[in-house]
Amino acid sequence: MSVETVPKDLRNLRACLLCSLVKTFDQFEMDGCDNCDAHLHMKNNTDAVYECTSSNFDGMVAMMGPEDSWVAKWQRIERFAKGCYALSVTGRLPPGIVRSLKNRGIPYRPRDVSLKL
Ligand SMILES: [Zn+2]
Repeated sequence: MSVETVPKDLRNLRACLLCSLVKTFDQFEMDGCDNCDAHLHMKNNTDAVYECTSSNFDGMVAMMGPEDSWVAKWQRIERFAKGCYALSVTGRLPPGIVRSLKNRGIPYRPRDVSLKL
């Protein structure tokens, strides 16, 4: 089992705005997001880490067996890398990134469940 995705300490934790993966700022900057870096390009890009992750999130689940986890299905993360995921992430991806995701056929659903629309 890879533990590369597990936060190395509990300071500077941030959650990805696209998939809600939780890692430290340094981990996002070093490795990007394990699920979405092909789209968000956070690796070695400090600005992108600030734009595409949020330090304001609620709750955390550790997902180690996405294949048979009902939590993973419920959180719509069953196809993502093993790791820690926030239940709710406050914030939105920048409009330019949302647009380029849309152009690639990737629907963006904000992960902020405290917003009741
Ligand atoms: Zn992500």
